[in-house]
Amino acid sequence: MRLSSMFMPTQREVPAEAEIVSHKLMLRAGLMRKIASGVYSYLPMGYRTFRKIEAIIREEMDRAGAQEIIMPAILPAEIYKESGRWDVFGPEMFRLKDRSGREFCLGPTHEEPFTETVRNEIRSYRALPVTLYQIQHKYRDEKRPRFGVMRSREFVMKDAYSFDRDTKGLDVSYEKMAEAYCAIFDRCGLDYIAVEADSGAMGGSGSQEYMVKSDVGEATIAFCDSCGYAANDEKAECIPSYKDDPRTVILPVEKVYTPDSRTIEELMENLGLLPERFAKSLIFSADGVHVMAIVRGDRELNETKLANLLGCNELMMAGSADVEEITGAAVGFAGPCGLKKKIRIICDREIEGAVNLVAGANETSYHFVNVNMGRDFKPDTVADIRNITKGDICPSCGRVVSICKGIEVGHIFKLGTKYSEALDCVFLDEEGNERPMIMGCYGIGLNRTMAAVIEQNHDENGIIWPIALAPYQVTVVPVMVSDIVQMDIAEYIYNKLKESGIEVLIDDRDERPGVKFKDNELIGIPLRITVGRKASEGVVELKIRSTGQMSEFSADEAVEAVLEAVKSGLRK
Ligand code: ATP
Ligand code: MG
Repeated sequence: MRLSSMFMPTQREVPAEAEIVSHKLMLRAGLMRKIASGVYSYLPMGYRTFRKIEAIIREEMDRAGAQEIIMPAILPAEIYKESGRWDVFGPEMFRLKDRSGREFCLGPTHEEPFTETVRNEIRSYRALPVTLYQIQHKYRDEKRPRFGVMRSREFVMKDAYSFDRDTKGLDVSYEKMAEAYCAIFDRCGLDYIAVEADSGAMGGSGSQEYMVKSDVGEATIAFCDSCGYAANDEKAECIPSYKDDPRTVILPVEKVYTPDSRTIEELMENLGLLPERFAKSLIFSADGVHVMAIVRGDRELNETKLANLLGCNELMMAGSADVEEITGAAVGFAGPCGLKKKIRIICDREIEGAVNLVAGANETSYHFVNVNMGRDFKPDTVADIRNITKGDICPSCGRVVSICKGIEVGHIFKLGTKYSEALDCVFLDEEGNERPMIMGCYGIGLNRTMAAVIEQNHDENGIIWPIALAPYQVTVVPVMVSDIVQMDIAEYIYNKLKESGIEVLIDDRDERPGVKFKDNELIGIPLRITVGRKASEGVVELKIRSTGQMSEFSADEAVEAVLEAVKSGLRK
């Protein structure tokens, strides 16, 4: 391809709205453009890379025995009503009506139509197992679309669904997908880890997320270098790491006047105590039923753990009117002792071993000090409901665990019979008994994967694509297009590479060399052949984007070196 006729709108300026590197670089390199909030188009350079990711995924899915189909993006409400998710999705689902008032949605994820299709077509155990997949647009009206294509409202997902006769079969199907995922992310050049993930209160029996370690990730991962344990913060079990000395004298409860101290910070200052001395009492509405959850003042409550414990669909902080009614006090003075209205109390495990805590007195402007679980209040449940954090110990081996941020690029999930039961997706087993199929689901976000690769592969000059994903593998740059010798050699190399099946660009634009080099680095082409002053001596220069290494060659040697590098899949 000749850059003189390529649609490649690069930008020197950093767009103001872009907060993270991948978003900035995707705009600057002209890979994509915003059409609306969380809705993007891909331009030629971006779309080529996008299609390479798609091809890798397709190859690995096919290799794993999954079969590709394509579902519509617009889907009837009925099947989502059958599964109950028409309500569960809430405002995240894009909904629309046709001219006669029938309801539809734009598919946020496709468990329902896949299950329906299999239900309608498969009757016998003989047709199982089967794994189907598609590479299809998804629509989610995210509360906070951000970071460009990392969290967008329209994105492309590869979603696969497996249907098995029994859980042993599911384990096999799941394992095949797990292997395929590793192959995909390896081929994309990502440094990632598979972590244990939450599988929901009523969900399946196993789930793993594929996380790309990155400070801009929105997920928190706990991992252990000693034993290999890795889980996200919704799953990672917290072992109580602090217990007061059992010999500590349990003091009598005292009520203290704490006006204007509603937060832990304000209380710490007023009472001169460390945050772990407080019992942070939070009131939630779980599917409309109020509960109080208590964690230590220096801990964060994990809403997924709490929701799973309660088995609820919707967990929200209670409104101030409800809090006032339950506690009999203004917001900020809630505690487990002397609630006006009895509600279920759930304590984090660490509260159990803590002595003489500070808690709200359920009276405006007052707190209790020296509150002790057991003596002063009895929780209904003691459980792990907090976020794992720095300093916590590994639930698997007991050493100190590491915490980092991660970008979730893929997710595999043992669904069990959740959808097959809801949608009556059954088969006849060998004995002629009707049984629900055992399902798994497996997703990868293509756009997010592409952005994650950029997060991990860039420098101050731009993107550094791994060869497997680069829109083109090499650019031939004649320094002066008016120089006939340079142009001749550049064209010679360009044609040779093209004939050998290399994806090659020739920068035949009448631009200064600096502009050409900058663009080439910005869009991250892995190899560059510069045909400059030494062309008259038959010498050209090959530069490797990732290492900056430069070598001089004859034109033919340069062609050979490129072929070799592409063949060996030159990475960093
Ligand atoms: P998140 O917690 O980040 O919202 P999710 O749990 O909703 O992700 P899944 O429903 O498991 O994600 O979707 C599978 C994959 O689709 C994710 O691993 C991710 O790569 C991708 N994905 C999900 N939501 C988005 C989005 N808004 N923009 C881009 N990719 C997304
Ligand atoms: Mg989501």
